[in-house]
Amino acid sequence: MTDFRKYPPFEEWHDWTELDAKAWPDKVEKNYTLVPTTCFNCEAGCGLIAYFDKDTDEIVKFEGNPEHPASRGRNCAKGPATLNQVYDTERIMYPLKRVGERGSGEWERISWDQALDEIGGRIRKAISEERNNEIMYHVGRPGEEGYTERVLKAWGVDGHNSHTNICSSNARIGYQSWMGHDRPSSDFANAKVIFLISAHLEAGHYFNPHAQRIMEAKAAGAKVICVDPRLSNTGAKADFWLPTWPGTEPFLLLAIARLLIESETWNESFVKRWTNWDTYLEQTRPDLPVEWESVRGAMLDEYAEYTPEAAEQKTGIDADTIREIAELIGEHPTKFASHNWRAAGAGNMGGWQVARCLFFLNVLTGSVATKGGTAGNGMNKFKPAAPIGAPGIASWNELEWPKEFPLSYHEMSILLPHFLNEGRGKLDTYFSRVYNPIWTNPDGFTWMEALKDESKVECHVALTPTWSETSWFADYVLPMGVGAERHDIVSYETHAAKWISFRQSVFRRYAEIKGGTDGKSADLGPDARSYDYNPGEVWEENEFWIDLSWRIDPDGSMGIRKWFESEENPGKPVGVDEYYAKTFAENVPGLAEAAEAAGQKPLEFMRDRSAFEVPADPYEPYERDVDPAAVEDCIKDDSGVFRKPGTPGTWSGELDDVDDLKLAPLGDGSPAIEIDGEIKEGFPTPSKKLELFSTTLAEWGWPEYATPKWIPSHVHWEDMDMEGNERILLPTFRIPTLIHTRSANSKWLNEISHRHPLWLHPEDAEKLEIEENGLVRITTRIGHFVIQSWRTEGIRPGVVAASHHMGRWRLEEDKARSWGTGKASITNEGTTWKLKREHGNEPYESADDDTQRIWWKDTGVHQNATFCVQPDPISGMQCWHQRVRVTPAEAGDEYGDVVVDTAKSREAYLDWMAKTRPPTNGLRRPFWYARPLKPAAAAYRLPTED
Ligand code: SF4
Repeated sequence: MTDFRKYPPFEEWHDWTELDAKAWPDKVEKNYTLVPTTCFNCEAGCGLIAYFDKDTDEIVKFEGNPEHPASRGRNCAKGPATLNQVYDTERIMYPLKRVGERGSGEWERISWDQALDEIGGRIRKAISEERNNEIMYHVGRPGEEGYTERVLKAWGVDGHNSHTNICSSNARIGYQSWMGHDRPSSDFANAKVIFLISAHLEAGHYFNPHAQRIMEAKAAGAKVICVDPRLSNTGAKADFWLPTWPGTEPFLLLAIARLLIESETWNESFVKRWTNWDTYLEQTRPDLPVEWESVRGAMLDEYAEYTPEAAEQKTGIDADTIREIAELIGEHPTKFASHNWRAAGAGNMGGWQVARCLFFLNVLTGSVATKGGTAGNGMNKFKPAAPIGAPGIASWNELEWPKEFPLSYHEMSILLPHFLNEGRGKLDTYFSRVYNPIWTNPDGFTWMEALKDESKVECHVALTPTWSETSWFADYVLPMGVGAERHDIVSYETHAAKWISFRQSVFRRYAEIKGGTDGKSADLGPDARSYDYNPGEVWEENEFWIDLSWRIDPDGSMGIRKWFESEENPGKPVGVDEYYAKTFAENVPGLAEAAEAAGQKPLEFMRDRSAFEVPADPYEPYERDVDPAAVEDCIKDDSGVFRKPGTPGTWSGELDDVDDLKLAPLGDGSPAIEIDGEIKEGFPTPSKKLELFSTTLAEWGWPEYATPKWIPSHVHWEDMDMEGNERILLPTFRIPTLIHTRSANSKWLNEISHRHPLWLHPEDAEKLEIEENGLVRITTRIGHFVIQSWRTEGIRPGVVAASHHMGRWRLEEDKARSWGTGKASITNEGTTWKLKREHGNEPYESADDDTQRIWWKDTGVHQNATFCVQPDPISGMQCWHQRVRVTPAEAGDEYGDVVVDTAKSREAYLDWMAKTRPPTNGLRRPFWYARPLKPAAAAYRLPTED
């Protein structure tokens, strides 16, 4: 009898029998082949197993993969819902090409051959005419480790654009300015105090792997502190829920920091050994001797204003609670695990200081990459080297990396349509991949204007598994696989370990195992493509890029094709089997040995298990000894840092000498630091230490923020008319069971989550005269939207909130339909755009009977369209929180109305651009900062004005 408490034993995955749940109470046995892959429904990369019914060759369910080191067999609701996405009747099955006007919704089915020829021809022409940087690849969820960067390098295109600055730029610069690594990797499982500035238990970054470890620690006695103006499920489960005023979180954190220093419960020996306190003193207190004994006093002076009472006034959290929390943290040195990713970090101008001040507590407690502390992503994430790769590019794309934002993390993607409007450039071929900027980004109508304009975007190719608001304005819509239909290597810093996970087309692997002779279950051999196995002609990017590169350079004369040729079969395109076989065999430590022990080749080992834990010691890597031979050719500076000649650390400062510098992917190329007579690995920062004083921020125009500080937000409550009808809108929170665009194609997820209320405190509802469940007009700087209110005490008065996971729409009744989009119409006069919701969800006939059982109506409100771009002047992050007026709906207002004036969008854009400080040193960006597609050093020089 099936034991439902256990996973099927790995040895039986190819031939597994269990009782059919649907046949209950009859005991009917079903025979399956289990094929593992990796979830693609958020960034966590959890393991999934597809259960193929051997009689029908269909997948009947997805379950968790117990072999996966991060998810350990568990998933959130979005993982198993992959089944819905695979079999969704409205998904895009074949390559389509626009006929009629762009955005008119008229398409014709074309072959992959035609798509490759036409798109390849355009790109060949652009490259031949040296317009390489008119080709842009704009990615939302990458879900892979650098594969496409390899492709762009081979084309010689500085065209990588991402979604980072609507997601995590602020948090990244907060962490990076301390330790060189731009993401936290928290060891929640072993922590004693867990400090979350997010809703981690239901929707945080790496949600499922994190949530399970947080709960384990909590069960073992750890205390959880959750900072969030909204009572999320995480706040409800926490020991302390701290509903701060939005944007004041750094003030709270600095008050705690000050208490730790004052009470001497800080980890003094760690701070002394591993921070650049000497630079801190030199730069901030020239009146004091540069000796350790000066540091405590200097820090107490610097943070004198951050008393618990002042923090209570500023943040809204009472002083005694702040003291209690500081005491708790001080009791657990080295065991303080913290995390901030989106939430306050993503909402506020200066939000990068949320992460910087939070990690300050890790530094003060010595909880940096300790057991139970927080490490840097690069310490735990494992990115295998690509087996084949072109050299770096030497150009700089100013549409992505404008000179106004030298410290941006990363590309300034939210500003792209404004840059196109200003004539800073045009796009010959724009690939959007799993990205829906018209709906997801702020200022969606400015995006729509740009994407409709064929002089700005000459050709738009949407690589997408599903229809979206943006793909509607494409010229080619090319169907790409969901997590069960594609190949990627995935690795994330989910906990104190290194791992990789292999995403594969389970249909292709099933055919390989079954070895059938007909239909899609037949193994078609090494020349087959994933679309030969997947539903319809759904493909995957990796093979698409290989074949497209061959069409760009059919005879190899451009030097592109050679990077995509098979070594095993010269003269033929490399296949995914060959590519990944080489990666797994050569570039993943321990994998070849583990495979050999199992009697398999590394690729087969990964196709069978899909995940592998890379042997590593995760703790305190900065304390690792470095072999003196490794620094023999280095110059040791006064602070003990070994600097390699020819790297930025030994640069003369002369712009003429820039071209010869050799850049490192992370840090400035310095391999080690001598501390107390020992040569240690240190951190990838210019000082090789944790930077209490960031020389980079100081030298690049922001000396006032070189140390952890509070920067008043653009929505700071004291600057607002709270007595009137101004309020702070929080639009940043996720709904645990939805994904941005792709969840609309999952019936289960939409049946679970389909309400989009505005969270509103009863006190505010009374003051603002909003009725129970009444319609509300929310007015932003550039327009307004109409939404329904929900009275709840689970939000700080003065703050209102609506998730960004709803408000999907389509323009045609019978096209681009899904389980989560309403039917809308769009009109415009001049620069004023109106989106009108005609109806929400309704039952309809399809090949899936469940579409006739749709009982929910709400599809939400597209609020993001009414937000102007608000780039943080340092990190470039869209500062999502909004200063809004909250009033009862007016006569004629209807639920879902969205009105925007894009002329006002442009005014707002110019105002925010005026906050930036372009570089004055002749360079575009610090050499040591990470950058996708980091180019050769010569590209860092700003062109000189003639
Ligand atoms: S947490 Fe993310 S990766 Fe894991 S199962 Fe859920 S959606 Fe998939």
